[in-house]
Amino acid sequence: MVDDRCVVARLHPVALAWAAGFFDGEGSTFVHRSRPSYRRLELSIGQSGPDGVPEVLLRFQAVVLGMGTIDGPEAERMYFWRARTFVEAQATIALLWKELGPVKRQQAGIAFRTVGSQYEQGRLRARRPRLRHRPHELHAAAALSQAARQEIDRAWAAGFLDGEGHFGLPRSRSRVDLPAWRRIRVSATQNGSPGQPAVVLSKLVRILGGKIERHGEPDDHRWVLEGLRGVERVLALVRPWLGTVKQLQARGAIDGFAAQQRIRGDATKCARGHSYSHVYMSKSGPKRRCKACARLLGRSSRARQGVKPRKFTNVARRYTF
Ligand SMILES: [Zn+2]
Repeated sequence: MVDDRCVVARLHPVALAWAAGFFDGEGSTFVHRSRPSYRRLELSIGQSGPDGVPEVLLRFQAVVLGMGTIDGPEAERMYFWRARTFVEAQATIALLWKELGPVKRQQAGIAFRTVGSQYEQGRLRARRPRLRHRPHELHAAAALSQAARQEIDRAWAAGFLDGEGHFGLPRSRSRVDLPAWRRIRVSATQNGSPGQPAVVLSKLVRILGGKIERHGEPDDHRWVLEGLRGVERVLALVRPWLGTVKQLQARGAIDGFAAQQRIRGDATKCARGHSYSHVYMSKSGPKRRCKACARLLGRSSRARQGVKPRKFTNVARRYTF
């Protein structure tokens, strides 16, 4: 029998993994200087809530045994889970620690030391622990079956996507008589960790597949997985733990992608709907060539290499689709 009066009995490793993933995505630990001589520790997770208190914040609070408060709505309909006391902040980080990524661990460690140092004016000193740690025995006791490890990983990934994930339909190629074709994609950006390797993003690759792209700044990384099959697979893996908002976003992207009108090239038109410029013979038979597409591809390839667009004497002649 589990003693239900004991809060520790309510801790669940899979739920904690989800919460750690969510904190890896959206959480932060920082130090307030309310008075010049006094520093206060705070953990915070922000989430926009157009329809009221976000479900994921309530879930997070329940997982960390009801610690912290939920404030809001503040500016731009943002809600915040916050732990403002040293004890609650430290206990929350301790609960999440096992699955928490190195960036958020380091951030918390620095904040704890900064706040802790204000008591180090010589009067108080931590005592040496009487028992030595025996980490190997602890690890052995906590060894997980492969299935349990996989469940914990997927719950962590669901939490991270609840925080930072986006299911969307980025614009792909333009088409003549139809709206532009859109790709389907799930992505997540790593937030606020200058100079750190994207460890949490590599973890996502390991758990869900996909790849890491770099954008602009050297520390600006994004995890990306494209294609209907891939997105559906990701959704199936994280669905048991993923919050309602991201589930709906994923469904909307999948439906939007499927609802697109496809066009295929035929004997007279290319896949974008241009009339072919000419037909030529190749070793494998007749090939159709579309000059308009060749121009478009050439232009995007020059743009990728950083070559400036050519100047047009007559702008009206520029192909825009
Ligand atoms: Zn074409």
